[in-house]
Amino acid sequence: MLDCTPKEPVPEGSHTIGKINPVKTCQPIGAMYAALGIHRCLPHSHGSQGCCSYHRMALSRHFHDPAMASTSSFTEGASVFGGAANLKTSIKNVFQIYDPDIIAVHTTCLSETIGDDIPAIIKQSEIPEGKYVIHCNTPSYDGSHVTGFSNMCKGIVNYLAEADDAPKKEQVNIFPGYVNPGDMREIQRIVTEMGIKSIMYPDTTNVMDSPMMKKYEMYPMGGAKIEDIKDSGNSKMTIALGAWSSAEAAAILQSKCKVQGVPLKIPIGVKATDEMIMALKDGFDVEVPLSLEIERGQVIDTLLDIHFQYEGKKVAVYGDPDIVIPLTELLITMGMIPKYIITGTNGKKFEQTINSMLEEAGIEGSKIKAEGDLFDLHQWIKEESVDLLIGNSHGKYIARAEDIPLVRVGFPVYDRAVHPLMPITGYRGCLRLIEMISNTLLDRRDHDALDQDYELIL
Ligand code: SF4
Repeated sequence: MLDCTPKEPVPEGSHTIGKINPVKTCQPIGAMYAALGIHRCLPHSHGSQGCCSYHRMALSRHFHDPAMASTSSFTEGASVFGGAANLKTSIKNVFQIYDPDIIAVHTTCLSETIGDDIPAIIKQSEIPEGKYVIHCNTPSYDGSHVTGFSNMCKGIVNYLAEADDAPKKEQVNIFPGYVNPGDMREIQRIVTEMGIKSIMYPDTTNVMDSPMMKKYEMYPMGGAKIEDIKDSGNSKMTIALGAWSSAEAAAILQSKCKVQGVPLKIPIGVKATDEMIMALKDGFDVEVPLSLEIERGQVIDTLLDIHFQYEGKKVAVYGDPDIVIPLTELLITMGMIPKYIITGTNGKKFEQTINSMLEEAGIEGSKIKAEGDLFDLHQWIKEESVDLLIGNSHGKYIARAEDIPLVRVGFPVYDRAVHPLMPITGYRGCLRLIEMISNTLLDRRDHDALDQDYELIL
């Protein structure tokens, strides 16, 4: 059994106070996103309407799909007397009016400050036969949307996963991490190509990238089925992708149901994808199919063909730790120089991991920061500029001010479309990243010099 512990305890004073433009959003956004990855689940925000509206808006703007959720609708009364009555009424009304199979409650800053005992309130609530209410705590004065995603994943495991007495089944649980539905679909495709049965949760495919159909469905066809989540306790192994978003849930499943947890990076880039495939190969004693070998070979071929377009270019990368770490690894593989690497989420492991990657690659003089701030990044860039920015939409102000191209990757990306459907994971996702990076740099280059580069290789 492997140790799934992802990171050290949250250091004191790690909240957002003192930040100017933190590279993160608030915990409930991640919890809401994870809850939407359960089939026929209605996320429920235990707090004021404003919080819930903001969280839904953030998800809807990124995914270009409606993010359905209900709220306890706190007013002054709940702030003084507690939100128990609001939550009990909400649960009753939501089941009566919206008829979900499951309600996933997450807290907000206000209900956390009040100190509402959510498990006790759920026990006192009217829950129809065959329906479920689960919860997680998401105090947003700590952590980030990634912490909230992780907390809801832990809640799903705590409430739903079960183990029979029978021997473990030849199936793998995939905890995909805080990624787009396009990535979840790609990861599922790779596992299927290897001939392994899988249970993925959360699974937002066909939920947050649902197709336009004749009739609006409040609960789209996608999402992990409750019976499959329950059955995940009988799986032989869990692949937990992302130390911050998935590893703690896998550790709980390991201790609760004795399912071996294998913590890995989200498979962004050649190395991280190789690692996931090898873990599956070793865990299930299967061969890597030719189809995946071909895909990998195409990435290597592309890297050889167009390396001169990006090699030696300096990059600033920012975003969620589980995205930024493998992305930095890919940039090193491409021969680029990650100059500034920032995440808004806390955890010293981030700096340690990036430092050891850079050290191994012999890259010196880079600046790395967990709990970072785009303001800091901008100051660093003013001192010494870079050729490219890679991160979410919030970096566009630095890009404009300093005239640096920006490749939009991660969460949130508000000002571009299609990205939730298109993977950056696996070998195919790797090709897409190489294409986005090289084409963006290409657009900025002197075309005579570029023609000379091409003449040299043709
Ligand atoms: S009050 Fe807290 S939970 Fe609500 S939007 Fe603000 S940070 Fe998020």
